[in-house]
Amino acid sequence: MPAINKLLVANRGEIALRIMRTAREMGIKTVAIFSEADRNALHVRFADEAVCVGPAPSAESYLKIDTIIDVCKRLDVDAIHPGYGFLSENAGFARAVRQAGLIFIGPSPESIEIMGSKLAAKAAVSNYAIPMVPGTPSAVTDRAEAKRISAQIGYPVLIKASAGGGGKGMRVVENDDEFDEQMDRAVSEAISSFGDGSVFIEKYVTSPRHVEIQVLGDQHGNIVHLFERECSIQRRHQKVVEEAPSAMLTPEIREEMGNAAVNVARACGYYGAGTVEFIVNDALDFYFLEMNTRLQVEHPVTELITGIDLVREMIYIAEGKPLSFQQEDLSMTGHAIELRVYAEDPANNFLPDVGTLDTYIRPQGNGVRVDDGFEQGMAIPIYYDPMIAKLVTYADTREQAIQKMIRAIDEYRISGVQTTLPFGRFVMEHDAFRSGQFDTGFVSKYFSPDKLTPPPNTDEADLAAVLAAYLLENAKPAAGVTTGNTLPTTAQSRWKTNRTS
Ligand code: ADP
Repeated sequence: MPAINKLLVANRGEIALRIMRTAREMGIKTVAIFSEADRNALHVRFADEAVCVGPAPSAESYLKIDTIIDVCKRLDVDAIHPGYGFLSENAGFARAVRQAGLIFIGPSPESIEIMGSKLAAKAAVSNYAIPMVPGTPSAVTDRAEAKRISAQIGYPVLIKASAGGGGKGMRVVENDDEFDEQMDRAVSEAISSFGDGSVFIEKYVTSPRHVEIQVLGDQHGNIVHLFERECSIQRRHQKVVEEAPSAMLTPEIREEMGNAAVNVARACGYYGAGTVEFIVNDALDFYFLEMNTRLQVEHPVTELITGIDLVREMIYIAEGKPLSFQQEDLSMTGHAIELRVYAEDPANNFLPDVGTLDTYIRPQGNGVRVDDGFEQGMAIPIYYDPMIAKLVTYADTREQAIQKMIRAIDEYRISGVQTTLPFGRFVMEHDAFRSGQFDTGFVSKYFSPDKLTPPPNTDEADLAAVLAAYLLENAKPAAGVTTGNTLPTTAQSRWKTNRTS
């Protein structure tokens, strides 16, 4: 397969930038696509060339397969990296890219198809002795049968959408009486979110921890794993804090999980970067959940502990190169933690709080990596995922990485929107997190808005800025219109920034 000279990133925001940075380091030209809402976005400015592909809604821009392929043809692009989200797990897109004679930087359409369905994935790995959560091997439609199976497995059970993702279409059922209602909800959510109402039943693992294994496979049948990421700090079944390595895995279990993950990848003829997700109970039994056939949001923690640039490897693999290392060449050094900084309000059920980043100052210094796509003054569009940044810290030990994270959170200045930064601080300081003894119930068990402390100094700094602006304005000789006691516009907009207090 030919070398890649020009790469289009079919994505936006921090991940588009992150991919383009590696491409540039490799001497590959970059092409950005953007929607009308993203005209001034950083990924557009960073790219060598950028093309507007449509209006703000993703369905009219970032998801337009034909338009994206046309751009590639017009600009002599030879490969597409899909990032995560949008078209990254769309087998039809991977196929269309291939058919257009372009390189898709990711797995084969067939692998995406198999792993895109949780049920097909379970069937595919059934020959490999991968531990699986007790449950139904196929979709359930007959309620009486479903209830009988649930009673047999033992409540609580989970009704899950086969096509599910992002924590949607999943319902916990505590007993026989609430089964019908929860089943109706799961099916209707599955239809509305994924257009496929197939659901199945799984035992609800109590004290579950979400641990996933990063794999890399080339097109010559070599597959390795790059250890685990612990992703149990979640809200709404979605991750907010991730770390590598996990504080509770033993070297033996790590190796067992790694081997299982490699086998899952083998079961679907996988190449590229992928993630095999497991659920782990308090006895450290682990069960295969699903495989994500793309680069994950939380991939930086793996990059930091292994020293491997996953995007670089993805590009090499797509070019047909064999992996340049084997399993025994890989090792972990140090500890990395990621906090997803979302524009959402932890004091208000983590509801999105999009707006303008009136103040936006990144933390810096040794062991701090910030992957973002914003600058001060930019608005967070309502059309897309409200993630502002990924704040990642890296140190020799877990304790030091936690301390560094607290320092970095305190240094991060964001105003104009509420963010998950204060929540991140709460997590870092919590005994359960510090001890490593926590599960996916962390938020519901320990968190309430009264536990949040606003980031220190932010308010003082904002207040000082407001006062300075006010005093300056009032010191001026009155020019025509009297402002009276109203604050000057700049100060007024800055008052809004103090909503964190
Ligand atoms: P999605 O594709 O929507 O992300 P997953 O199957 O990956 O769905 O599960 C997402 C999260 O839901 C997991 O990280 C875990 O917190 C929870 N979960 C999934 N399956 C189970 C289970 N059988 N028992 C307990 N929790 C589960």
